[in-house]
Amino acid sequence: MGAAEERAWVDRMVERVTARERAERLNAAEALERAARRLNGKHFGGRLRWRSIRYVSNQRSRFGSCTPEDGTIRISHRVADLPAWVRDYVLVHELAHLVDPSHSSRFWDLVGRYPLAERARGYLMALGAEE
Ligand SMILES: [Zn+2]
Repeated sequence: MGAAEERAWVDRMVERVTARERAERLNAAEALERAARRLNGKHFGGRLRWRSIRYVSNQRSRFGSCTPEDGTIRISHRVADLPAWVRDYVLVHELAHLVDPSHSSRFWDLVGRYPLAERARGYLMALGAEE
């Protein structure tokens, strides 16, 4: 490994560790869990149940993912940098996947309960990524 390559490798490792530590710090603050409970109460009649909802640092291409089978929701740590109303949309999107894992019209009806859903989708599209 040449010096430049080595430096690039070290930079990448440092970035990775920093992102992981940041995700851990964000999870310790439990803001995501609290926001999810609030959104569940407001838009889903408090009916949704999940096992864990947390920030992760190893999610590159997408903002969030949901595994309905085991009730886990993972949100990219980058979402913490977005405005709260966009973060809430990402949460509503993944929460709705607990009900319907596909992007069916029923799914979008659920997501549409969040009044700023369309605007938030536009915002994320402008960032060059969607859901
Ligand atoms: Zn989705």
